[in-house]
Amino acid sequence: PHLLAPLRLDRWQQAECWPGAIIDGIAHYPSTPPRLLYSPIDRQEHGQLLPASAVEVSAAVGCAIVAFEAWRTVPAPRRGELVRRIGEAVRLHKTQLAQLITLEAGKIASEAEGEVQEWIDVCDYAAGLSRQLHGLTIASERPQHRLLEQWHPLGVVGVISAFNFPVAVWAWNAMLALVCGDAVVWKPSEKTPLCALAATALVLDVLRDFGDAPAGLIQLVQGDAVVGDHLASDRHIALISATGSVAMGRAVAQHAATRLGRSLLELGGNNAAIITASADLELAARAIVFAAAGTCGQRCTSLRRLFVHEEIADALQEKLITAYQHLNVGDPRFATTLIGPLIDDAAMKRMHAALAQAEIEGGRILIGGGQVRVGGNVPDGGCYVRPALLAMPEQTDVVHDETFAPVLYLMRYARLNEAIALNNAVSQGLSSAIFTTDLREAGAFIGPAGSDCGLANVNAGTSGAEIGGAFGGEKDTGGGRESGSDAWKNYMRRATNTLNDGHALPLAQGVRFG
Ligand code: NAD
Repeated sequence: PHLLAPLRLDRWQQAECWPGAIIDGIAHYPSTPPRLLYSPIDRQEHGQLLPASAVEVSAAVGCAIVAFEAWRTVPAPRRGELVRRIGEAVRLHKTQLAQLITLEAGKIASEAEGEVQEWIDVCDYAAGLSRQLHGLTIASERPQHRLLEQWHPLGVVGVISAFNFPVAVWAWNAMLALVCGDAVVWKPSEKTPLCALAATALVLDVLRDFGDAPAGLIQLVQGDAVVGDHLASDRHIALISATGSVAMGRAVAQHAATRLGRSLLELGGNNAAIITASADLELAARAIVFAAAGTCGQRCTSLRRLFVHEEIADALQEKLITAYQHLNVGDPRFATTLIGPLIDDAAMKRMHAALAQAEIEGGRILIGGGQVRVGGNVPDGGCYVRPALLAMPEQTDVVHDETFAPVLYLMRYARLNEAIALNNAVSQGLSSAIFTTDLREAGAFIGPAGSDCGLANVNAGTSGAEIGGAFGGEKDTGGGRESGSDAWKNYMRRATNTLNDGHALPLAQGVRFG
């Protein structure tokens, strides 16, 4: 309750029920079966939500179209000013938003605040970008002709987001979409609906004070896969940006493809690091522990596979075991906690199933894997596990899967090209890293025959990307790129214009007609 008033969420809670949709700034309470809301910290219930139905999804999309039609002609720098003000509002509410992320996603305070900081950073980035949405002029083959390339607002962007970044993933999409002149309809994870309501409330307050920005620019529809399905299938959605599992991405991509709509997919990863014989082992160990165990292994970029040169494998293994012994698992609201809970029982069952399977496939648990006993700073009801480190004889079947939990498989290698081939041998292609002090090894890893991932780092862990670069991955990770670099082009449409300022009508390719 202490979070509701500062985030102005109390306006929407009616008799313990939260609205399943915010359409044009107005809360809707659909007559759908309510869904109980729990915190992963202790399974304490904190109200219930009435999920949206197909009716609310169509209404939200319809209103977003109207908002888009007004917004697309507002000059881009003015659109950037809106996003700059959103960033200011987020700064003021950083602590409370982070506390809500902790409550719903179980992140420790520093990581939850880091997630809100990503929203702030992307606002700053998008505000600057609003003055740089540039096209091209291209030389024409015809006299007194010119070719222009312009970027125009695209339309309504649908955003489907995952539980593990309940605010930042939407913010990456929505802040860029707003400066690009689009309207956004958001379907957040059913596991983090209050974060979505809080983010929406904050933006709506800024919109109201702004003047020339309609409330319909930001719409919210809540619910599970069925609601996501309605959104992805709506033919008025110009771009569906979906973040989550590979299975979800396949379903969404098929819906979008059926109507020849655009999709931007940010799906699962199975990220690896190669530790070469020349690596700085202190630095590598620190990076490995944060990437593998941080966020309780629930980042798309979490480190899951480790290829260690055989000469240094014993030494690194020792360092990792020592570091894992000191990881403090428990209630993420305690300042000393480093590892919070898994999101739910199903996630814990999947972790334990993966460990059992790994043992069948010849793996050996070096440390961790068990559930942490209740008591001290470990509350009852949550799924608290010890991050697991396993020695695997080779890259077996289970290592090919993304288990969304803190499970790290350690494998040994002799030659760098073998390790790079193993890095690339899985179906996902999100993040990767090499730890080396040898320039040639680093060059091989980031070169064209090196890592096939969207992110390939040198002496930096697989997780914790900055917003300035394009974020995303190849293969089953979906191929999408979000956030920095030229990812903004996803949210705009390209128009090529041929301009003739002469009196003659020369045809391209020298064609004569009549
Ligand atoms: P999930 O796939 O279960 O759910 C993600 C979202 O998709 C939710 O909003 C869910 O309701 C919706 N959804 C599920 N099935 C759908 C369907 N058939 N049609 C439409 N919508 C559907 O994923 P999760 O458990 O919330 O998140 C963990 C997964 O997300 C991991 O695989 C992780 O790697 C991935 N992830 C990827 C990135 C990235 O940027 N690549 C970022 C965060 C998370």
